Amino acid sequence: NAGAVRVAVRVRPMNDREKKKKAECIVEMKGTQTLLHNKDSPGGDDVKRFTFDHSYWSYNKSDAHYTPQEQVFKDLGTDVLDAAFEGYNACVFAYGQTGAGKSYTMMGYGEEIGLIPRICEGIFERVVAETDETTKFVATVSYLEIYNERVRDLLTNSPAKTQLKVREHPKTGPFVDGLSVHEVTDFEQIQELMDLGNDNRTTAATGMNDTSSRSHAVFTIEFKQASFVAGIPSEKSSKINLVDLAGSERTSATKATGQRLVEGGNINKSLTTLGLCISALAERSSPSKKKKKGHFIPYRDSVLTWLLKESLGGNSKTIMVAAISPANINYGETLSTLHYANRAKNIVNKPIVNEDENV
Ligand code: ADP
Ligand code: MG
Repeated sequence: NAGAVRVAVRVRPMNDREKKKKAECIVEMKGTQTLLHNKDSPGGDDVKRFTFDHSYWSYNKSDAHYTPQEQVFKDLGTDVLDAAFEGYNACVFAYGQTGAGKSYTMMGYGEEIGLIPRICEGIFERVVAETDETTKFVATVSYLEIYNERVRDLLTNSPAKTQLKVREHPKTGPFVDGLSVHEVTDFEQIQELMDLGNDNRTTAATGMNDTSSRSHAVFTIEFKQASFVAGIPSEKSSKINLVDLAGSERTSATKATGQRLVEGGNINKSLTTLGLCISALAERSSPSKKKKKGHFIPYRDSVLTWLLKESLGGNSKTIMVAAISPANINYGETLSTLHYANRAKNIVNKPIVNEDENV
């Protein structure tokens, strides 16, 4: 099904903490399957099997089936670019526990460039290749963070842009009122904005990871192509949402207290609502439940789901990347991430080409 949400799972290498604890690798991947072992189960090794569109093994660079950043882009990023140039909306969101590899996959670190910069680069490569007398392109970017159920603009230092509201446009859906939108004409411009936004992202130490991020980041590229063929003008547009979610771990696991607990509660509100929306959407798409009426999707219950409404079950080609740790000490969180990803597989969106003729 062309509207089905595609789901990829990616396992990262052991981190220092896991190595220090002499953690065992309990994840195995065979083709598109991901296997999770529980060696501490009372009945001996208990294996849970999952099948996804992609199971990415990024455990050890010297492994034969190691999946580098480039391969993830070739599979997933290319789909996003194809969709955008055809006039579809697209979305990639990264889910998983803090430290599991969400930001590594979406943004990347140093030379290990992630999906977002590669997609941006790909857009301008294609724009240069396809611009001519009949076809012109305009691209804009915005970058925001949802922290404590508040929207903050990451591309301005103005204090007025820290409590923005999500509103709904009758035709184009939810949007952030007052968010700065920046026109970009080459990759360098987008790169500068990306760097500014990344510097502005809120991070704080928790028990899990020193630089863990407890905010959701949404990088959006809006893209218009105007063409004039045989005297007939037409315009296609596309919105690409690239989302790095906050850590999915339960607050108890992070030893959060006081202010952090409050923040955790709000982050859980967005993630919990995301989970509820995913479950309701999966159920709506299930053939056996088709006749059951009134699948209410609680989009409005959190800022995140309200803003991502079209990306979840609506007009968008959507991909979810679930990032997991390989270590036995994270068994519970990994299992919960895999269940979450498994549910997302059942969502069927309704992507349409955003095209206006005779504009
Ligand atoms: P998250 O954003 O989910 O909290 P990060 O993406 O920041 O986690 O990853 C945590 C650490 O693990 C980083 O130091 C990152 O470089 C490393 N890492 C994550 N995924 C991979 C991977 N696939 N290959 C190599 N290193 C990775
Ligand atoms: Mg991160």
